Formats: sequence, C-alpha cells, structure tokens
Amino acid sequence: MQTQPAASHFINGQYVEDTGGEAFDVIYPATGEVIAKMHSATPDIINQALDAARAAQPAWAAMSGTERGRILRRAADMIRERNHDLSILETYDTGKPYQETSVADATSGADALEYFGGLAASLTGEHIALGDGNWVYTIREALGVCVGIGAWNYPTQIACWKGAPALACGNAMVFKPSETTPLSALKMAEILHEAGLPAGLYNVVQGLGDVGAALVVDPRVNKVSLTGSVPTGRKVYAAAAAGMKHVTMELGGKSPLVIFDDANLENAVSGAIMANFYSTGQVCSNGTRVFVQKGIKDAFLKRLSERLDNAVIGDPMDPDTSFGPMVSQRQIDIVDSYIAKGKAEGARLAYGGNRIDQPGFWIQPTVFADVTDDMAIAREEIFGPVMAVLDFEDEAEVMARANDTEFGLAAGVFTNDLTRAHRVAAGFEAGTCYINTYNDAPVEAPFGGVKASGVGRENSKAAIEHYSQVKSVFVRMDDMEAPF
Ligand code: NAD
Repeated sequence: MQTQPAASHFINGQYVEDTGGEAFDVIYPATGEVIAKMHSATPDIINQALDAARAAQPAWAAMSGTERGRILRRAADMIRERNHDLSILETYDTGKPYQETSVADATSGADALEYFGGLAASLTGEHIALGDGNWVYTIREALGVCVGIGAWNYPTQIACWKGAPALACGNAMVFKPSETTPLSALKMAEILHEAGLPAGLYNVVQGLGDVGAALVVDPRVNKVSLTGSVPTGRKVYAAAAAGMKHVTMELGGKSPLVIFDDANLENAVSGAIMANFYSTGQVCSNGTRVFVQKGIKDAFLKRLSERLDNAVIGDPMDPDTSFGPMVSQRQIDIVDSYIAKGKAEGARLAYGGNRIDQPGFWIQPTVFADVTDDMAIAREEIFGPVMAVLDFEDEAEVMARANDTEFGLAAGVFTNDLTRAHRVAAGFEAGTCYINTYNDAPVEAPFGGVKASGVGRENSKAAIEHYSQVKSVFVRMDDMEAPF
C-alpha cells in the first residue's frame, strides 16, 4: 500500500506542500520502519487553511441542513465502501491490529458522518410566546471556524467525531492530527470533498504542539475541540479562554472499574480486558484501576491470566492478531517506566511486564495485583496495557476510593445486584459510566468527562450544543412603550 500521501496538508480542496516546514517521519509501530515523510505547517500554511475556512463557511451555513447532511451521508457511504484500505492505512499509522481497525475506526467515523448528516436537517430554533401577542424566536447558528486537534490513538475516529457535528451545524473545520498519526485525517478530507463538500470546509494541517497552539490563538477561530492529555488540555483551554472561544476538551483519565463478588466472573474478566487491553491499552476511557471485591479476587486473577494467554500477539495485518504494538518509542518508554515504578512501589506483577524483543514497540499485556491507592500506577494515567488490580471490602469504601482522583472520564461496575448497579453508577464522579459492560462508544450516546477529564460532550445530540449557538430574536406586535 502507498502510505506516503500526495502532500502533508489538505487545504481548500487540495493537497498542499510546503517543504519549508520542519520535516518529520511517520513510523509503522510494528516494525519501526519509516512509512511516510511529512512537513509541519509553516505560518503560511496555517494562514492558507484559516483563510480558506473563513471564506467557505458562510455559503455552507446558508445551505439547507438537508443539503449539508446529504454530503456527509455520502461521505459515510464512501468510507464504508473503502473500509478495508482505510483500515490498513490506520493500522500502518497506529499499529493497532487490523482486527480492530476494520471494525472500530473508519466504521466509527462513518457512523458519525451518517448520524450528524441525518441530524443536520432537524436543527431548528423555537418559538416562545411572551403574552399580548409578542414573541421570541431562536435561530440555531453555526459558530464559524472550528479547530480540531487530535490524539494518536483513534486518528480517523477523532477526525470524524469533530468534523461531522461541526460540518452538520454549518461550520468550517481546520483539523490538526497528532504528529504521531498524521495520515488518515488526510483521507477523510479527500473523501469528504469527493462526496461533494465545497472546498475550504475541511482542511488538514500537520505539525506538533506549536501548530496546534498557533491555531488556538488565531482570531479567525471561533471554537477549539481538543482530544489529548490533561496537561495539554489546561494549556489549550487557557489559550482559548483568552479569545473567549468555545471549547470541547476530551482529555485523559484513570477510570475505576468495580467488580463485586456477585458479578458474572466471565463477563467481568471480559470487561476488564476491554477496559485495559483493547488498542494495546491506548484508550482514554480505560478502566485501569480495577477494584475487585475480596471474595472474587483469586478467581478473577486466575481467569484473567488464562484469558490473557489467548491474546494473539503478532503481525497487526494478520486478521487473527488481537494485540498489537504500542504507537511509538516515546509511549513504550513511558509504559516501561511505570512498570518499573509499580515493581519498586511493591505491587505484585501478576502477568506480563516485559518488552517483546523484536523491532517495533512491543510490550506484553501487564497486570499488577495488590496495588494500593497511593501508588503511581494507581494514580497516574499510563496510557498503555497496564492493569492495576486493587482489593476492596464493601461498597461505601470502594465508592470513596473510586472517586478519589482528579480525573472523571469514565467508570464501570460489574454486579448482578440491580439496585446496587444503578446506585453505584449514580455515585460515580464520571461523565461516561458502564454497567456490566465497558468502553462502548456508539455515536448515539454522549461521550466525555467531568473534573479534569474534560469539558463538553462529543457524539449524540449533545454535540450539537457544542458546535452551534442560539440567537434570540424578540418580536413586538403591539406598540412599544418608553418612560419618556
Ligand atoms: P497530547 O496532549 O500530547 O497531544 C494531543 C494533541 O495536542 C496533539 O495533536 C498535539 O500535537 C497537540 N498539542 C500539544 N501541545 C499543544 C498546545 N500547546 N496547543 C495546541 N495543541 C497542542 O496527547 P496524546 O499523547 O496525543 O494523546 C494521548 C492523550 O489523549 C491521553 O491523555 C488520552 O487519555 C487522551 N485522549 C482522550 C480522549 C477522549 O476522548 N477523552 C480520546 C483519546 C485520547
């Protein structure tokens, strides 16, 4: 497959290169090979993208929602038709197994385009009667130019989760993918334009944090949506606040997964696997603090080890492979350092813990048992395949411990006690909660965090609130009075 794109950026409906920008390599995580060479956006490229977005947006907003939605839905169909090739490219970009990318990346992007494409025609204001025949009506308006900044774990999905609601509401988008995974957003831009999107409405510019920072402070930008870590979120939120810009912040987490001893053991183990090892543990909502009630602990750890033995670790392009490499040298070094910290802090290594000695960024699925709340592996986001298992005695104790974190992205509970399940979900300080399941993220449901994990929601009708604003128009039908 040709992994080198035609150029680094996609602006005003076409590929654009500027070799004056700093060069960087794209690496296939499974082998460490360079698969593309890119250039970071120069100030001129950033200008071109923002000017194109600014120029194209008013005419797009003036189109009917039905017309806008038709283009997004056409793009969704094209993505599904090309799912195989897009999934291979995503596997090259991220190292995630084709077994995953073929069902969770381009397909999820297509779902977002289809969903928001369908919603576009139904975006309306309301009529509010004020008495005496006077009234107010509201108009739901686009924000203008939206900037999307992505993380590297779900590059296609993030490009679409931000682009689809932005475009449905009549905005233009300038998207900056993560420098680690710059390839698939370009494909999304290509497909959207092939589907009929007018030039300038979905632009992709490449680069590191400095390019993101330049976009955030630009006065041509009305909204910023970031998917990234909490430290980056703090910087971007502050910079956006200075310009009084709208924000969506999808940030990191250290989410709790609570397993009571009445839970179905097999389902609980499946939940813990999905909450820790899908995408080689590189999922923001992962339930990496697994609280297991004492009565089920030994059985849980035994069955978990047996199930982990079934992981197929190998060539990500092989459809049988279920566990791939980490995304980068940097990320595997971070994970390694946390494994060393876990050992040094006295946690018991119950599974894995070693690098796999081959080219690329390979590490075993890893489980620590007997973890305590104060350990770094229980407090800090690792963003890799490292599960921390903590013991607990009763519900009140585990709820206090589960919520004792600055993060609040997600939380899960496994139990067969119906009332306890809902009580626990209500008590979690988290934006996204799961009962007897984990890490589902369908486009129909709101997704996002509380506390330091974020601001705003992606997906569902809730996302519309974050990509549009409401104008109130007061109408007086009788004579107007004044004091003098
Ligand atoms: P990161 O914070 O290092 O980078 C995210 C993006 O921000 C990148 O595109 C980067 O270039 C850009 N950036 C960095 N500094 C910037 C600045 N000062 N101004 C503007 N942009 C800047 O995160 P990452 O390592 O790419 O991704 C992993 C993190 O993302 C984890 O913390 C993970 O939990 C989080 N994440 C959250 C979600 C979610 O939906 N909540 C989803 C995926 C990943």
